[in-house]
Amino acid sequence: MYSSTILWFRNDLRLWDNVTLTEAIKKSRKVYPVYCLDPRQFAPTPLGYPKTGPFRAKFLLETLQDLRHHLQKIGSDLIIRQGLPEEIIPRLAKEWQVEAVFASKEITAEEVRVENQLETLLMAEKITFSLWWQSTLLHIEDIPWPVKNIPDIFTQFRKEAEKTTPVRPSLAPPTQMNSIEPIAAGSLPHLSALGLTPIAPNPKAIIPFAGGERMGRARLQEFLWDTDSLKNYKETRNDLRKPNGSSKLSAWLANGSLSPRTVYEEVKKYEKERHKNSSTYWLIFELLWRDYFKLMARKHGSKIFKLEGIQDKPLDLEDNMKSFLAWANGSTGIPFIDANMREMNATGYMSNRGRQNVASFLIKDLKVNWTWGASYFESMLIDYDVCSNWGNWNYIAGVGNDPRENRYFNIMSQARKYDPQGDYVRHWIPELAYLPGKKIHYPPELPTKELHQSGIRLGKSYPRPIVSFNRWLY
Ligand SMILES: Cc1cc2nc3c(=O)[nH]c(=O)nc-3n(C[C@H](O)[C@H](O)[C@H](O)COP(=O)(O)OP(=O)(O)OC[C@H]3O[C@@H](n4cnc5c(N)ncnc54)[C@H](O)[C@@H]3O)c2cc1C
Repeated sequence: MYSSTILWFRNDLRLWDNVTLTEAIKKSRKVYPVYCLDPRQFAPTPLGYPKTGPFRAKFLLETLQDLRHHLQKIGSDLIIRQGLPEEIIPRLAKEWQVEAVFASKEITAEEVRVENQLETLLMAEKITFSLWWQSTLLHIEDIPWPVKNIPDIFTQFRKEAEKTTPVRPSLAPPTQMNSIEPIAAGSLPHLSALGLTPIAPNPKAIIPFAGGERMGRARLQEFLWDTDSLKNYKETRNDLRKPNGSSKLSAWLANGSLSPRTVYEEVKKYEKERHKNSSTYWLIFELLWRDYFKLMARKHGSKIFKLEGIQDKPLDLEDNMKSFLAWANGSTGIPFIDANMREMNATGYMSNRGRQNVASFLIKDLKVNWTWGASYFESMLIDYDVCSNWGNWNYIAGVGNDPRENRYFNIMSQARKYDPQGDYVRHWIPELAYLPGKKIHYPPELPTKELHQSGIRLGKSYPRPIVSFNRWLY
C-alpha cells in the first residue's frame, strides 16, 4: 500500500470502468488526480493547422469539467496544470512526496516518448511509475498472439479473437475518494488561452456533441434504449443525415470518457432485453476495428505515420498545396467531396462513408500526399484517435491493412448511392440549395481533366471551386 500516489489522467477521462483509477485507489491511501494540458497538443503542425483544433479542444475542456464535477462529488477534485507532463508530474511528485504515479498506457511514439522520459525521471527519485492498458475492448494480454504476430488482415484477427478472447467485465466507478485539500486544483483555461479561436455551435450539425462522461453515457442511452436505433444500425450506419443512423460515440471513446467495455456490456444487455440481430453484432464488430488499429499501431510503430505506411510501399503522390487546399476547404467543385469536408470544417464530425470518400479522392484522384490529409483530420476531427485515424488513412492509401490491391472509390457512384436526391450536398453547399425544378445530376465519371488543370484561385471564405457547381444542376 502506497501512502500517496498521483493519478495522471490521459485518454481515460472517466470514472466508470477505469482500471488505472481503480488500482490507484486500491493501492494507495491518498490519490491526487492530475491532468496536464500539454501545449504541444495545441501547437501548429508543419501544415499550419493546430494539432488539436477548436472542436476537439472544446470537447476536451467540457470533458475535464465533467470529470472534475464527478471527482468532486466523491470527495476529490481534478488538479489541472498547463505544461509538459514530463516536467509537471515529477515536480508535483516530489512536492507532494508521493510514492507512485499511475497512468494509462498509450501506444504511439509521441505518447510513449513522454512515458519513457517520465519513467527515467521518476526512477531517479525512487518513485514507482505504473502503466495500465485499458483503451481496447479486448485486453492486449488476452489475445492469442504476441503483438508481433497479430495477423495483418482484419478478418483473420477478428475470427480468431472472437473465438478465443472474452471481454473482461467492466469496473464499477469509485464511490469515495480522499480530499486533495489544501492543493489548489487550478482552473480550466478558455480556448483562446490555448491559442484557438472558439467556433459557435453549428445548427446544421448532425448531433450537438458535448464532452464528458455524463454526455457520453447519455448518448449511449439515447442510441440504444430511448430511440431503439441499434436495432437497425447495420442498415442505417451509412446514412449521411440521420442523427441516429450510427452511434456517434466515437468522440467519447476517443478521449476515454466512455470505455469500449461499457458500450459492449450495454449492447449485450440490449440483446437480452430488446433485440439481438446482425445490427447489434455490427456495433461490436466496429469496436473490434477500433481495437485492431490500436494493435496494428503497437505492432508497426511509427510506420503508420509514413507515406509508405506499414507495408513500406512506395507511392507516387505529390506535395501539391493547391489541390490540398481545395480539398481541405471543401472547394474542389465535386459536391459529394466538398459537402463532407464542409461538414467536418463546420462541426468536427464526418461520417465514416464521407471519410472513406474524401480520403480516397485526395489520394487516388488528386494524387496528393495522404499524410497531409491525415494531419488535417487530426486537427479538425472532434473524435480524432491517433490509431484509428492513421490506420484508416494507411488502409485507404493502399499501404495498410486492406488485403485488396488498389481499391478505388468511384465518387460519382458513391454519391448516387448514398445521396441519391442530393439532400446531403444541398445541406452543406449553399450554391446547391434547392432551386425549383433543378435536380442534382451525377455523371458516370469525375471530370478528372478539369480537376487537374492548374489555376485554382483561392478566395476569402471558400476558394472558387475548380469545377463550377452549376454543372451538377439540371
Ligand atoms: C480516413 C478515416 C479516418 C478516420 N479517423 C478516425 C478517428 O480519428 N477517430 C475515430 O474514432 N474514427 C476514425 N475513423 C473511423 C470512423 O469513420 C469513425 O469511427 C466513425 O465514423 C465514427 O462515427 P460513429 O461513432 O457514429 O461510428 P459507428 O458506426 O457508430 O461505430 C461505432 C464505433 O466503432 C468505432 N469505429 C467505427 N468504424 C471504425 C473504423 N473504420 N476504424 C476504427 N474504429 C471504428 C468508433 O469508435 C465508433 O464510434 C476514420 C475513418 C476513416 C476512413
